[in-house]
Amino acid sequence: MSIALVLSKSDRFTAEGSLDAALSRAQITMRGNLDESADLTRVASYLSKLGAGLKSVALDLQGLGVITSAGLRSWITFINALKSASFEVTFSAVSEVFLERTSAFPQMLDGHGWTVVAFEAPYFCTSCKKRVVHLLNAAEFPTAPEAPEPPARACADCGKALRFDEVPEDYLGFLTRMRRRGAG
Ligand SMILES: [Zn+2]
Repeated sequence: MSIALVLSKSDRFTAEGSLDAALSRAQITMRGNLDESADLTRVASYLSKLGAGLKSVALDLQGLGVITSAGLRSWITFINALKSASFEVTFSAVSEVFLERTSAFPQMLDGHGWTVVAFEAPYFCTSCKKRVVHLLNAAEFPTAPEAPEPPARACADCGKALRFDEVPEDYLGFLTRMRRRGAG
């Protein structure tokens, strides 16, 4: 038994999900444009009203397509609220657009011991001249190296090895930052 949640809904942005029957775990999916229409204050205040019983919050951000500076500001306020409430936050999936912004604004994913489960990563086939986005699992990355290496992916059309279409140190930097914080 879970309880359905619709926390923010506009033409451009939705935040909906579910709560478990014990009200201890919330799962929220955000889709659309993270801009001035995204009412994250409402999401944060709903979660904080659940009180100390709420332990963990899982956020699915794979559907976030655009992040404006207004959206970025409300996002930072939102995650600061989650931090103050000491929720254990898991990002079940993060979109490419979101991750691109984190290289300039690392605080977007900043919380002690927070984890990213899966995230989108862009690849490019130099033969087919085609860009493809893969969903990668953070667990695919070995814990040891300081600079994570993108895992190999093959082109679905021609079978050739795809090239990672971002600067790995920038794009994957969040993995190192998260692990360092998680360990420390
Ligand atoms: Zn190809």
